[in-house]
Amino acid sequence: MSAKILDGRVVRDEIKENLKSQISLSTRNSLKASNLKSRPKLVIIQVGDVAESNTYISGKIKFGESIGAVVEHKKFPATISQKSLISQISILNSDSSVHGIIVQMPIPEHLNKEAIIDTIDPKKDVDGLTTTNQQLLENNDPQVFIPATAKAVITILNYYKIPIEGKKAAVVGRSKLVGAPVAILLRNLGAQVEVGHSQTPDLTAVTKPADIVVVAVGKPNLITKNHVSPDQTVIDVGINVIDSNARLWKTEKPGIGQNQRHLTGDVNFAEVEPIVAAITPVPGGIGPLTIASLFENLLEAYKKQS
Ligand code: NDP
Repeated sequence: MSAKILDGRVVRDEIKENLKSQISLSTRNSLKASNLKSRPKLVIIQVGDVAESNTYISGKIKFGESIGAVVEHKKFPATISQKSLISQISILNSDSSVHGIIVQMPIPEHLNKEAIIDTIDPKKDVDGLTTTNQQLLENNDPQVFIPATAKAVITILNYYKIPIEGKKAAVVGRSKLVGAPVAILLRNLGAQVEVGHSQTPDLTAVTKPADIVVVAVGKPNLITKNHVSPDQTVIDVGINVIDSNARLWKTEKPGIGQNQRHLTGDVNFAEVEPIVAAITPVPGGIGPLTIASLFENLLEAYKKQS
């Protein structure tokens, strides 16, 4: 038997239409404001010039513009001081035309990531990464901005009517960006959650008994047929660039063999798909939904600030 494929692009397109209809009316040549007094505005801060970041930022700009939002890309040199960057963020905090601020990661090592993120006004923290937002998430507070990737995981489960309450869930990976918020959200929604990480001695003991398995690690083919069981739903958050020798590339910088490189998740799809009940593909699963979730947060931020 083969699994139901949970297509993130279909869900992304529905969210896109919904956001578009709330933000703007499409005319032949332009987007004009409709329901809202002004357009929601997102500022993306980039420090340095990491190739991967350029790709992610251009995806965000494209999506934002397609729904009628304003997206400003502010690029700073890799040598910027902590003090200058913090003062730039403070200026954006007090600019009422800006509704959302994100700092594209990674940033250079001389900068204190936590201090920079925590400078963002929590009301404009549409990535949900400030300490204040993380506490709101832990407290299941409705004022929270849920980090986009974690929100995408819950959105896809809800869209395909996969029950969460009372179910067993396994989350592999515990990063602040993805694994930890996914585990908190699933717990808040009534699942019994087990978390696996790099020090977990037997990952199969965590994943096999679960009804829902979410994997966010960054290691191609980590999850094999040995980790899964029939009737499970598997959500693969991993995005890995590999070449034809299954070698992992950390960036998408041009180089030898680039034509043979492709995206793959953390799950060995060929092995796992015939066993489980439902699975997200990579590409085409959580990736497309993440950007849509970010702009859902932007619209929420706009409404809260209006
Ligand atoms: P991090 O590197 O921050 O975290 C990886 C996590 O995986 C850590 O908790 C680590 O454990 C755990 N881990 C590492 N090795 C193993 C192992 N062998 N077995 C079990 N767990 C392990 O990565 P991110 O959370 O930022 O990202 C994870 C993946 O998700 C990446 O592929 C990334 O590209 C992708 N991603 C996808 C997005 C999307 O839009 N679809 C958005 C963001 C990320 P420990 O804590 O012990 O170190």
